[in-house]
Amino acid sequence: MGKAHNPGLPMNTTLPLTRELLLIGGGHTHTLVLRMWGMNPLPGVRVTVVNPHPTAAYSGMLPGFVAGHYSREALDIDLVRLARFSNARLIIGRATGIDTANRVVTLDNGRALQYHIASLDVGVTSDLPELPGFSAHGIPAKPLDGLAHAWADFRKAVAAGEAHPKAAVIGGGVAGVELALAMAHSLRAFGQSNVEVSLIERFNILNTLSKPARPALLRKLTDFSISVIENAEIAALEKGFVRVADGRSIAAEFIVGAASAQPQDWLGETGLDVAQGFVNVDKSLRSTNVAQIFAVGDCARMGDAPRPKAGVFAVRQAPVLYANLRAALSGGAMQKFRPQKQYLRLISLGKQSALADKWGLRLSGASVWRLKDRIDRKFMDQFHDLRPMAAPAAPRLRAQGLDQAPEPLCGGCGAKIGGVALSQVLGGLQGAKRGDVLSAIGDDAATLSGPAGQNQVISTDHLRGFWHDPGLMARIAAIHALGDIWAMGAKPQAALATLILPRLSPELQRMWMAEIMAAANEVFAAEGAMIVGGHSSQGAELTIGFTVTGLRDGAPVGLGGARAGDQLILTKPIGTGTIMAAEMAMRARASWVIGALDSMARRQGDVAEVLAGANAMTDVTGFGLAGHLAGIAKASGVGIELMLADIPVLDGAVELAAQGVRSSIYADNRALVPDLDLPDDPKAELLFDPQTAGGLVAAVPGDSVPAILSKLNSLDCNSHVIGRCVDQPPGLRVI
Ligand SMILES: Cc1cc2nc3c(=O)[nH]c(=O)nc-3n(C[C@H](O)[C@H](O)[C@H](O)COP(=O)(O)OP(=O)(O)OC[C@H]3O[C@@H](n4cnc5c(N)ncnc54)[C@H](O)[C@@H]3O)c2cc1C
Repeated sequence: MGKAHNPGLPMNTTLPLTRELLLIGGGHTHTLVLRMWGMNPLPGVRVTVVNPHPTAAYSGMLPGFVAGHYSREALDIDLVRLARFSNARLIIGRATGIDTANRVVTLDNGRALQYHIASLDVGVTSDLPELPGFSAHGIPAKPLDGLAHAWADFRKAVAAGEAHPKAAVIGGGVAGVELALAMAHSLRAFGQSNVEVSLIERFNILNTLSKPARPALLRKLTDFSISVIENAEIAALEKGFVRVADGRSIAAEFIVGAASAQPQDWLGETGLDVAQGFVNVDKSLRSTNVAQIFAVGDCARMGDAPRPKAGVFAVRQAPVLYANLRAALSGGAMQKFRPQKQYLRLISLGKQSALADKWGLRLSGASVWRLKDRIDRKFMDQFHDLRPMAAPAAPRLRAQGLDQAPEPLCGGCGAKIGGVALSQVLGGLQGAKRGDVLSAIGDDAATLSGPAGQNQVISTDHLRGFWHDPGLMARIAAIHALGDIWAMGAKPQAALATLILPRLSPELQRMWMAEIMAAANEVFAAEGAMIVGGHSSQGAELTIGFTVTGLRDGAPVGLGGARAGDQLILTKPIGTGTIMAAEMAMRARASWVIGALDSMARRQGDVAEVLAGANAMTDVTGFGLAGHLAGIAKASGVGIELMLADIPVLDGAVELAAQGVRSSIYADNRALVPDLDLPDDPKAELLFDPQTAGGLVAAVPGDSVPAILSKLNSLDCNSHVIGRCVDQPPGLRVI
């Protein structure tokens, strides 16, 4: 008979993280690497990607977007979704320096990120800072996002009659010609008759193209009535004009710079080996002098096989970079990148037509466009078709009550416990009574008799890491916890931190702790509060919490002081729960998610100061706006009328609510106000949406509203009057 083993309690066998991989820039190579990483990660590695925007534009479709054949969404790689797919941390920021000795990258937002291995894919810029007037009146073609954005705005202005359809492109290379054709087509396609597009070149246009392709493109420029101005030295850009050195002036209200592909200045100051500012790499795409750094795409220079700056090389580098990053992190052997000598150029020709150029042969027409369109869409489908990992199936034999496989813990509500269950349990709790504890469970924070006749309020809150960035999570968790103090009209005093870190090597523990505490300290210090201690442990996932205290002279603002006639002011838009639930399910747009995170990360100390004299106040968090207002109505004995149309919501929240996206605590929150009649409007569902680090909602006397709102508006916060208190039995009514 074999030995019997008692399996004991299930062990947490998650492997610790031991290495940091930092991808700087969401260029073509890095986005493909992230996708590959998502499908086959290297255990023990935490990946971070840094990009100035939450999306990265795909160059192949940019001329088609400018021409009006593609939407902006078709062109954009959604880095939030890609980061979720690859389990990576996305940081919105721009790298500005690398300390290669200490392995630290600095960002323009003040953050410093440590790495073991880093890779650069930051592209180039077509900025022309030396050209007088360019920074005020010109748009660089690269980075592509800026151009896409500016062009969409210009088209709108032309359509509204606020701008004339006159555009110019500086730089007569292939990209400049594609852009000029696309602009001319786009402006005419929406009915503009007096379109003027100019292409201005210092020498001769298209001088790098093969013989048969060049005349074909020149003919196209003539067909589109594009003025080609060659051998033109530009003196300056002015509002509405390009001034040429020979005295000519060219009318243009939208001016694109496509003449240069400059490396980013800061790369030259990193100590990395560069040639004309481009990072020199060896065959394995690794920096020639710093082994921990790789560089790919336009910002790199393949020393022994230099190639033109074209997306095709960035794309082809991806599998080699993926393999070599893994090798560098795991001690394996490097692969070599062998760039092709010739490549197929597919050049769009304004209308849905394109030209193919390879080996001196050329083909053009609608069929070439269809081929290009197919190739480009296939490329983008790799990013549009990302799906979250399916939940594991429920075991066949399982305990009663375990009806289905568990949903992943909700990112929208931070996996909170429902309010009904809480009030049932806490309502029956009997404890000791003390004279220096001045409140019972129920308000945002407990009130204790504090020093020097002041009242001290105390509260605690924690959040699980619904976003992969511990620094940002710490900031949001600190603000979330302070919400209870601000809602009582108190000044933050002290904080104790409770941290649960996932399993990490000792080195990473130090890095994560340092990042978390620095972010939290920034929030508390700005509020004049001290972090005085805390407790940390290891667990299944990142959880950050704070116990916070505050002081107030006189009675704290509670839930119970609202009076009929008071107006209700809300200081942040709602919808964080819905957006973050959608983010986890990879259904939210990047800009919505970043908007929600920005809103959560806004401190409210300044706002709370303006509202400190409110009759009643609360912070809108887990129970949703309706649940928290019901708390005020009940405690104050007033009715509340809510004007649904006036409630500010985050971008994307209503659209997601209309699609049926709900955080997992939605039903519990709905049950807190069972009698509330709702209009048939998806926005109404957001009244039950749990908020993280949500706004304050305050009941203030009607005659004080103009002064309060004017102060709040000067603080650049999104505050609105959303309803009023009425002389009715306690309850809510939505109008
Ligand atoms: C109009 C136009 C059309 C083009 N069409 C084609 C084409 O059809 N085929 C082709 O092969 N090539 C084309 N190109 C060239 C192509 O755009 C580039 O070769 C390609 O984009 C290079 O990709 P990349 O990975 O180097 O970086 P990019 O695609 O330029 O991406 C760089 C990323 O890094 C981010 N970033 C920038 N600075 C920082 C920083 N400091 N810190 C962090 N992140 C940063 C940027 O925001 C961007 O997301 C075209 C170029 C233009 C201008």
